[in-house]
Amino acid sequence: MVWFRRAGRESRVPEGLWVKCEGCREILYRKELEASLYVCPKCGHHHRVSARVRLSQLLDGGNWKELFAGVSSADPLGFVDSKPYAERVKALRERGARHDAVLVAQGKLDGIRLIVAAMEYSFMGGSMGAAVGEKITRAIERCLKSSYPLVIVSCSGGARMQEGILSLMQMAKISAALARLHQAKIPYISVLTDPTTGGVTASYAMLGDLNIAEPGALVGFAGPRVIEQTIRQKLPEGFQRAEFLLEHGMVDLVVPRQELKETIARCLNHLT
Ligand SMILES: [Zn+2]
Repeated sequence: MVWFRRAGRESRVPEGLWVKCEGCREILYRKELEASLYVCPKCGHHHRVSARVRLSQLLDGGNWKELFAGVSSADPLGFVDSKPYAERVKALRERGARHDAVLVAQGKLDGIRLIVAAMEYSFMGGSMGAAVGEKITRAIERCLKSSYPLVIVSCSGGARMQEGILSLMQMAKISAALARLHQAKIPYISVLTDPTTGGVTASYAMLGDLNIAEPGALVGFAGPRVIEQTIRQKLPEGFQRAEFLLEHGMVDLVVPRQELKETIARCLNHLT
């Protein structure tokens, strides 16, 4: 999101009051955008939101209890790319990132007690490392124990490369836990937001009893550029976007953000 400082001597507009829509480039009043759940009132572009904002949009009265807050990333491989992984995580923590790339919460959605895991894109692209895998697995186990439905809101670039095979293992671990949830007939709704890619798409994001995408969301395994370069073909218009995936049977519903909460509630009421 691009923030503006309004120029001019007599300007009394504080910094960050205006925001430019990433869809139509219109300048929007931030309060108005916030009131429309960060969906542009002009063009309908769904802006990416933080895990905390997402939970406040979905859970009743903005009330929830964070779970498994103490689980955080280790650096088992001592991984170094352009800078050490441990330093990257430390820098994010110093900037106030507290919950790795997923925030798990227990609360009520339209009166239904449930657990929601919302992914945090601003934490290393919402990538799934061992901490994310562990928190989601524990969320599933808590659902099994208490018979609460589960909602996971994905927003992720995929597996966390800095944790190598340990991040890839999370796909199997979470999928196995979801299979147990399925056997126990406890509903799981997956919400796919922009972007949901890589190992997250290849595991839990596509394993919901219902897979609901937000309009325009990029959902795929490898990105379109990588596929084009590999197969040396031009991809069709809108390839890997939510609407294309709905047409081709890859997701069950495309639901605008303003209708997301009531849709989840209606689906859960049918499923339970
Ligand atoms: Zn717009």
